Amino acid sequence: MTFEAVIGLEVHAQLLTRSKVFCGCATTFGEAPNTQTCPVCLGMPGVLPVLNRDAVAFALKMALATGCTIAPSSRFARKNYFYPDLPKNYQISQYEQPLAQHGAIEIGDGPSRKRVGIRRIHLEEDAGKLVHAGAMESAASSLVDFNRCGVPLIEIVSEPDLRSSEEAVDYLKKLRAILVYLDICDGNMEEGSLRCDANVSVRPAGSTVLGVKTEVKNMNSYRNVQRALEYEIQRLTKRLEAGERIVQETRLWDADQGITLAMRSKEEAHDYRYFPEPDLVPVVVDEAWLQPLRAGLPELPDARKARFVGQYGLPGYDAGVLTASRRLADFYEEGVRLHPDPKAASNWVMVELLGLLNRDGLDITESPVAAQDVADLLEAVRSGKISGSAAKTVFEKVYAENRGERGAMAGAAAGRVTVADVIKREALEQISDAGELARIVDEVLAAHASVVAEYRAGKEKSFTFLVGQAMRATRGKGNPKVINDLLRARLARDAGK
Ligand code: ADP
Ligand code: MG
Ligand code: ZN
Repeated sequence: MTFEAVIGLEVHAQLLTRSKVFCGCATTFGEAPNTQTCPVCLGMPGVLPVLNRDAVAFALKMALATGCTIAPSSRFARKNYFYPDLPKNYQISQYEQPLAQHGAIEIGDGPSRKRVGIRRIHLEEDAGKLVHAGAMESAASSLVDFNRCGVPLIEIVSEPDLRSSEEAVDYLKKLRAILVYLDICDGNMEEGSLRCDANVSVRPAGSTVLGVKTEVKNMNSYRNVQRALEYEIQRLTKRLEAGERIVQETRLWDADQGITLAMRSKEEAHDYRYFPEPDLVPVVVDEAWLQPLRAGLPELPDARKARFVGQYGLPGYDAGVLTASRRLADFYEEGVRLHPDPKAASNWVMVELLGLLNRDGLDITESPVAAQDVADLLEAVRSGKISGSAAKTVFEKVYAENRGERGAMAGAAAGRVTVADVIKREALEQISDAGELARIVDEVLAAHASVVAEYRAGKEKSFTFLVGQAMRATRGKGNPKVINDLLRARLARDAGK
């Protein structure tokens, strides 16, 4: 019997509002502990929450971007639990009447393209952060930082439409891209701006009923989501194969050991005793609010990808890579605007730039190379000023020498090393002068009479050797096209001799 995995994700995204969801405290990340707090987010008795209009607007943007039906009226509820990161002892969330429901996004390409349903999107507040003095189990004390407490979150709950760890990661990447395109979340998984819990079950292939699920928590990167799901699918499959029953439970991913560990069973699950939040009126969303939000939606990743294929003639793959991140797509389009050769720009950005950025763990917004540098480089190659191989050297030097400078996206700062600087300093300018190259070609032909004879006898490979020798004589700076033309012309001319 073969088995099939079924996965549904619950994703929490921190919204980029300037202030918290129910008070006026700032939401800046990384400030000194407990400096962004007030009686409301500290849960003092007698305080009243006031809903942040921007937080609702941001959530509505995501709901519109994912085709959800938006509730004309939704409600907040209290989710009761005791944990020291939440001083009220309840989290204000949405339960029975969420802001939006029944949307979808698409993942994959070509025949593997599929629709993944979004069950609901609701608004809630984040909790604070516990800092344990040492390992959590053995810490003598724990400190709490309430700066994050009350930061707005949206929870995006998918339908159980995903069938593999790869699909789950694709879905997560697409969700993240949409959030970042909408400018409502920075999408940083390591800093916790985007968090994901995965519900997994396994069933006999072809079955239409859902198996008993486990919920896996504590994965803070795409790689960990992928690894955790693979492990959990394997674990559940083995149990089913052995004829064992699956118990519904919550499990924690342990990245060091590469396993999931039982955290609590269904019997131990919290009863949150949800009830409507009496301190907040229902959220009423009318067409007058939605209309400008709908009109103001930016071009989203799928649409931008399709446009890149149509407008720039890029292969779907390239367009997908370039539009996966909004800032990368912006960078690319800026480069093409400055030097209108879309395919060449795509190659440099996708292969060379992304290669270096990935190697160094940098985001495009931290790129030491600016779009202007890419354009300058393409122009230098096009005009024959430098060769394709020298271009690579120039690119790497511009990248390396501007590292540590301000990110290129912030604008070209004074004192940056430019493409022109490197070409000049390294004397990398290509020799395209036919007279100078002709002299070198003649020397090569004279020095390798036997190879010339072999070529005449029909050994085409000898030609490549002669080109190589001429390139070597110019220390790689000869224009290969001019050298090729000169060699062909001379070998043809001398053929009759
Ligand atoms: P819970 O009440 O435990 O949170 P829900 O039914 O609300 O469970 O679903 C939460 C998430 O789990 C959703 O993303 C949903 O798609 C997914 N899910 C529900 N049942 C299953 C299942 N049997 N297998 C895999 N995922 C599931
Ligand atoms: Mg759940
Ligand atoms: Zn506050």
